[in-house]
Amino acid sequence: MTAYEPPVKDYDFLLRNVIATDEVLSAVTAGDVSVDDAMDVVEGASSVVRPIAELSAIGDRIGSRLKDGTVVTPPGFREAFASYAEGGWIGLAAPESIGGAGMPRTIAIASDEFLSAANTAFAMAPQLNSYALAVFAAVNDSELNAIYVPAMIAGRWTATMELTEPQAGTDVSAIRTVAKPQDDGTWLLSGQKMFISWGDHDLAENIIHLVLARTPGAPVGLAGLSLFVVPKLLPRPDGSVGERNAIQCVSLEHKLGIHASPTCLIDYDGATGFLIGEPHRGLQAMFVMMNAARLGTGVQGLAVAERAYQAATAYAAERVQGQVIGRELDTPIAEHPDVRRLLLSMGSGVSAMRALAVQTAAWLDLSTSEQASTAKSAAALAQLFLPVVKAWLTETGLQITSDAIQVHGGMGYVEETGVAQLLRDARIFPIYEGTTAVQANHLVGRIVSRDRGASALAALELMSETCWELSELGHRVAVRIASRLESGVALLRQATLDLLDRGERPRDVFAAAVPYLHMWGLLAGGWMHGRMLRAALEGGDTSRERRIVEADFYGVHYLSRLAGLADVVAAGETVLA
Ligand SMILES: Cc1cc2nc3c(=O)[nH]c(=O)nc-3n(C[C@H](O)[C@H](O)[C@H](O)COP(=O)(O)OP(=O)(O)OC[C@H]3O[C@@H](n4cnc5c(N)ncnc54)[C@H](O)[C@@H]3O)c2cc1C
Repeated sequence: MTAYEPPVKDYDFLLRNVIATDEVLSAVTAGDVSVDDAMDVVEGASSVVRPIAELSAIGDRIGSRLKDGTVVTPPGFREAFASYAEGGWIGLAAPESIGGAGMPRTIAIASDEFLSAANTAFAMAPQLNSYALAVFAAVNDSELNAIYVPAMIAGRWTATMELTEPQAGTDVSAIRTVAKPQDDGTWLLSGQKMFISWGDHDLAENIIHLVLARTPGAPVGLAGLSLFVVPKLLPRPDGSVGERNAIQCVSLEHKLGIHASPTCLIDYDGATGFLIGEPHRGLQAMFVMMNAARLGTGVQGLAVAERAYQAATAYAAERVQGQVIGRELDTPIAEHPDVRRLLLSMGSGVSAMRALAVQTAAWLDLSTSEQASTAKSAAALAQLFLPVVKAWLTETGLQITSDAIQVHGGMGYVEETGVAQLLRDARIFPIYEGTTAVQANHLVGRIVSRDRGASALAALELMSETCWELSELGHRVAVRIASRLESGVALLRQATLDLLDRGERPRDVFAAAVPYLHMWGLLAGGWMHGRMLRAALEGGDTSRERRIVEADFYGVHYLSRLAGLADVVAAGETVLA
């Protein structure tokens, strides 16, 4: 496979021309960081992942293995993790108040994309740390922070996220792991957690398990869950590691992809844990981690799609097969109309995904603004789009990795070119961190219905403003995408109102949830293309021609699907019964 080239220029374009980066930087860093500084970080992130990318294939081939009760990672992983941690990248987005670099998510997302594209399985280890750091920052327990946070930022200790049990997958309320209080204020945890990513390994000296468990006498269901920090090695007061805790990695899963990421069955046999946050409010604390991970998983979908797109582009530029209609003899397959369609579908999809992910990160950042009105509207937009980013980016990314195999023909299906690994790795993204259905249920059941569509309709209003601005430009492609976007806005507005009208028929609403979420993804992608096109036309960016072609293609090939999905949403459960 062609060497991975981190798309630094795309971030330069987005951060300077499309996203309100200045506003984000002033909200999060009080203006201490300029856009130029942010781009230095993005450049740095691109360099650090290059050697890690070279370990991706070996990680896939050898995988992590369980040996004498301990997980052994593939060759090169320990050294790569040590050097990544030494570079200070783990604490990039952690707030300065807990010792992090305090970089806005709008910037740190570039580092996440590059690392996940370079080596998805490896990336999950440091990324779990950064998600866990968000919990420690939110709960802000000074005693716990003093012991755990510095070691996690330095990468000496890594974190896990533990919800799943054999009977509790999507249904977290079925969790049975119990935590019994001890006289000294600690807790003893017993139970089994399954499918735990990086639940054991040899990259760091200690592992911090963040475990959802039930306390005696707690209310049944979600309200009875509390969150515990359960270290593999119990820390001494000076922060060094001491006695081994009663935690065991019993087995590793054999799985389709991300072979280097150990997926562990973890047994707790009276293990000592420490409550983090308040009792019975564990899910709320875990949601801080889950929200960070949902954005991160969407970015995994984007990252692997970008890598697949790069591989397909390079292969199609070299491979000669048959006479290309209307071109000279020996023209490579990239010029066959259908291969061109596949490549543009991948490229315009990736551009839409990236812009939407960065924009959502910007809304998350702006939701912390001191200006109350900015914070409120940004928080509403972030809430609305977070499930869309998780589900639509991972589903679209999966399709793009499959298209990359199609471009390679048989060479894509065999392992030699490496694109098969990308498809295998990407298949988990729409499953973990809440399946696509879970995200869609959250979107319709929690976000749209809770405020009777107010935030959804406000977002559609913003899209309409972009349509008007595009029409004003007078450029033929701008006018064309504006018209398609305007039709899409009308379809999604109607679909939203229809769903709200079905309050008495919840099965009908949830039957339409995933297609409805896809409508949001497709339309938001078109909105992002409209904004990128406008910036390119107005600013004379060097990528102007590419932006024009991608926006036009996206309008015809992606936005045209909205009408079909609107039909599916309207049908609801009628055709499923
Ligand atoms: C490689 C890997 C790594 C993982 N890492 C972690 C980790 O680090 N920590 C952790 O806690 N877990 C982890 N998981 C678990 C993962 O989050 C779960 O697999 C996922 O939440 C789905 O749960 P389940 O497998 O039990 O499927 P189920 O919940 O049984 O779902 C099966 C199907 O039913 C659908 N479904 C279920 N309920 C509903 C509903 N209410 N509405 C509509 N559809 C529904 C689902 O969408 C899915 O299509 C990992 C899993 C894998 C495979």
